[in-house]
Amino acid sequence: MRILDFRSDTVTKPSPEMRAAMASADVGDDILDRDPTMDRLERRVAEMLGHEAGLWTPSGCMANAIALMAHLQRGDRFLAPALAHVMGQELGTPAWLAGGLPEVLPWEGGPGKLTPHQVARNAANSGAYYALRTTLLCLENTHNFAGGTFYSALEHRALVEAARNHGLKVHLDGARLWNASAASGAALQDLAWGVDSVSVCLSKGLGAPMGSVLCGSRGLIEQTRRLRKMLGGAVRQGGVVAAAGLAALDHLPRLAEDHAMARRLAEGLRALGFNVADPPTNILMVPVLDIPLALRVLEDAGIRALPVGSALRFLTHRDLTPADVEDALLRMKPLVEPLLTTWEGPRPMV
Ligand SMILES: *Cc1c(COP(=O)(O)O)cnc(C)c1O
Repeated sequence: MRILDFRSDTVTKPSPEMRAAMASADVGDDILDRDPTMDRLERRVAEMLGHEAGLWTPSGCMANAIALMAHLQRGDRFLAPALAHVMGQELGTPAWLAGGLPEVLPWEGGPGKLTPHQVARNAANSGAYYALRTTLLCLENTHNFAGGTFYSALEHRALVEAARNHGLKVHLDGARLWNASAASGAALQDLAWGVDSVSVCLSKGLGAPMGSVLCGSRGLIEQTRRLRKMLGGAVRQGGVVAAAGLAALDHLPRLAEDHAMARRLAEGLRALGFNVADPPTNILMVPVLDIPLALRVLEDAGIRALPVGSALRFLTHRDLTPADVEDALLRMKPLVEPLLTTWEGPRPMV
């Protein structure tokens, strides 16, 4: 039985074309005098996002950590939405490495989303020498644990303007910014507009084995290159993995297929009696009552999902086909009885 792995879009394996590109990559020593393929990838992604320069990092967590290290001084307060990846999934590096004091904001703009008014309200800095300093807003687009919800270009702009008007810098965790662009129809440049830094993942829906790119001004990227070296994230013949990143960018046009598969999965589950909402991108959240039981029943049917809070997360990606989604629905059909007793309707996760 083929295992249908819906846990994450990170489970995708490098395609034969990607492996071929890696094998034939032009390489140099990126620490001594730049690797030519690494240089090409960083320039290409920066240009796509409308920023001056880019920095490759081995992971998205490192890209976010480096950005926060560059933006924050010890004791600075920063804002981020509830269940943001930087808050819950990065082992406290915003505090441990960047010295920031996190402030979690509830989702006043809908699942995973903040409002400009809320940013303005929380950004207040009196300027008094004895007052706490709030210096940074962290956005996440799409919002992973809210179920892949996205900001439109207009919403993004309004948030950035609210932050700027109150003297805040903005870092955008855009691990799946590609998906936000595919779903909203907005250009990547418009979704990365006005921020001081933005990170994007090459290792998720785009299928590279590793790598993220952090973009920003030339000055910021120069500074972050040094921070990456401090963290041990600088590599030598990085062109081998940068070539995979460049090949991954070819997969951008097919992200809409992932979104269609996620919607089809939701539709099929509804037909089986499960109460799930339509996913905005490639992430489907299914609230469950008994996670261990639901996981066991699914595992026996060769279906993998990831427990996230009080829900199971199903993610569609390039190593799954529309036929696999139909197959998953067929496999779940005989399991409706045991599954329905463990699953429940949508409800806010915070
Ligand atoms: C996956 C992800 C990251 C980075 O994860 P890595 O596994 O370190 O590449 C950062 N932010 C969000 C929202 C993510 O989904």
